Amino acid sequence: MNELRAIVDDIQRLIAGREERGKVATYIPELAAVDPAQFGIAVTTVDGRQYAAGEADVPFSIQSVSKVFTLTLALGMAGDRLWNRVGKEPSGTPFNSIVQLEREQGKPRNPFINAGAIVVADTLLANHQPKETIGEIVQFARFLATDESIVIDQKVARSEQETGFRNFALAQFMRGFGKLDHPAEQVLGVYFHHCALAMSCRQLSRAGLFLAAGGRNPMTGRTVVSGDRARRINALMLMCGHYDGSGDFAYRVGLPGKSGVGGGILVVAPGRASIAVWSPGLNENGNSLLGSQALEMLAQRTGWSIFGP
Ligand code: GLN
Repeated sequence: MNELRAIVDDIQRLIAGREERGKVATYIPELAAVDPAQFGIAVTTVDGRQYAAGEADVPFSIQSVSKVFTLTLALGMAGDRLWNRVGKEPSGTPFNSIVQLEREQGKPRNPFINAGAIVVADTLLANHQPKETIGEIVQFARFLATDESIVIDQKVARSEQETGFRNFALAQFMRGFGKLDHPAEQVLGVYFHHCALAMSCRQLSRAGLFLAAGGRNPMTGRTVVSGDRARRINALMLMCGHYDGSGDFAYRVGLPGKSGVGGGILVVAPGRASIAVWSPGLNENGNSLLGSQALEMLAQRTGWSIFGP
């Protein structure tokens, strides 16, 4: 495992030398203010060791990475009934696209594009006040990461609440198709808040460990989901976790992953480790540019790709 230490340090050193760092998301004003010259990586292995480098302790806005946690919660509540409301297919469209929704009568392609995650948030609202649902999601993130200090960045949540016009459009459009059970404002309140969860690479990589270990957190011994469910969440991450960049990510990295416009990516190496990287600059698909490059290096050096070493 000293080898892993060396690999993580090498990646950090190589990434630090990169000049092209991508562009930070500006459509959420609070994210536009983040310094792009940051990079962090944390690898947590299924035997409970953690290897980190760079800014691995700095909390960042996990944004769409949170959709993995809300999907896990919603599957726990609704089981396979969730799939009547949202699909399992890659979209081939940007994260905030509305075009497919009209053709497909308001049923989003998958739970990781914004429309799909909004439906997931609606599912989580059943028999709850928005505040309760938000509280439950925060508790779940803390439970997964075994860290009670995790909080929502309220400034980011407010920033998105004020400027999330496209998400309001998506939600109202689906409500128009009769696909949301709650008012758009309430559903988006939940959605914006879970996207505004702030976590560091170390915390995020611990939170994803159950997906690498058959549904059970090997550090606490607690079962989060069944092995079957963990496998299926991983499948969705592989096919849909990077929006219209999912094919390229599978080609380059070969591991299930979920990205967010805050520049974070959570990646699962089944049976081996959970990995979180963060660098705020994004590529043209809205995925972390240096984060993706770092993961490509990691997959190459470790041979962890699910498609073979
Ligand atoms: N909160 C962001 C949005 O709705 C999440 C998008 C993302 O991370 N890709 O636009």
